[in-house]
Amino acid sequence: MNCCKNCFQDSDVKKYILKNGKIKDCDFCGSKSVPCVEPHDLRQMLNPIISLYISVENFMSTDELKEFEGDMLWEILNRDWYLFNIFDNTMIESLTAQIVNTKSYKEDYPLILTSYVVKKEDYYNDENHPSEIMENKWEIFTDSIKTINRFFLQKEFNHSLLRRMIGICKKTIHKDTVLYRCRISPNKETFSSSEMGRPPCEKATPGRANPRGISYLYLALEEETAISEVRPYIGDLISVATFRLTKDLKIIDLENIVIKRPVKYGHNLSEVIKYLDFLRKLGEFLEKPINPLRTEIDYLPTQYLCEYIKHLGYDGVRYRSSLNKGSNFVFFFDEAFEVSTIVSNYTIKEMTFPNYEYEHLK
Ligand SMILES: [Zn+2]
Repeated sequence: MNCCKNCFQDSDVKKYILKNGKIKDCDFCGSKSVPCVEPHDLRQMLNPIISLYISVENFMSTDELKEFEGDMLWEILNRDWYLFNIFDNTMIESLTAQIVNTKSYKEDYPLILTSYVVKKEDYYNDENHPSEIMENKWEIFTDSIKTINRFFLQKEFNHSLLRRMIGICKKTIHKDTVLYRCRISPNKETFSSSEMGRPPCEKATPGRANPRGISYLYLALEEETAISEVRPYIGDLISVATFRLTKDLKIIDLENIVIKRPVKYGHNLSEVIKYLDFLRKLGEFLEKPINPLRTEIDYLPTQYLCEYIKHLGYDGVRYRSSLNKGSNFVFFFDEAFEVSTIVSNYTIKEMTFPNYEYEHLK
């Protein structure tokens, strides 16, 4: 059987087939006279990904297996690793099987093809367990910044590795993108457009990403998200302004952390995954709703990491909104934004958490 470069999305796999393939017809996607290889030729380059997973039958009891609903390897390669460019699941399954082994009868297939699989590290609880290590690393880091060193972190932190991992999450947010900011009026008077930007430094209270006295611009991708982020109550008067980007900006996207070219990391892939987990933790902490009971010191870890991202030359960070599943941004500067001259004013009529019903104020 032959597979071709059109069967795959992964650019490194495509390159390999172009370089090593012989002109034939593809048995999977149907392309004619294209460079093709035998699927099993790809096993070695895909092994760092495949070997992250283990069949649940290797360690679950019969009772556990009966209850367990999981994913097959082909589903994971397709959904989490964006490997294939084929839309027929039966074809994806059969291509996966031929990448993994050279057997032609299903009865001879290894367990990793015939049962659900899970990430090895999620199920083995030894001390050297990679996610445990990163979980510990996050704790050591947060503890150390709160109680030991605030400005010059020493051994708690591998800056060069972190810098590389941050680079994996970089994205461009394009000129003309429109974002929203909402403010609750403290005295029932509406805000003017000039009052809708980031607060002046002397008034900047500590937030998820900014320390006291340093003012960042927090915006949301959707108007709804901007409103729910300020958590208004019924009867509150709120003002919403739009901010249009006047040039492309480079940001770090903690909302969708995806390893785009897994193959290029080879056997370092599992190392890369665990450091990305550290950044996922940062994303989770940015996401947490502002809690008045949290003290200023609780924000130090996220503030430190955001400042590190700023220091590396990025313009901001994107993170998920835990309140309504929309997207939030924090920008370190506001020069690239044009604020709308018209501010929309609403009164909150009803709260159907996490959404709000509001009425336009005439
Ligand atoms: Zn093909």
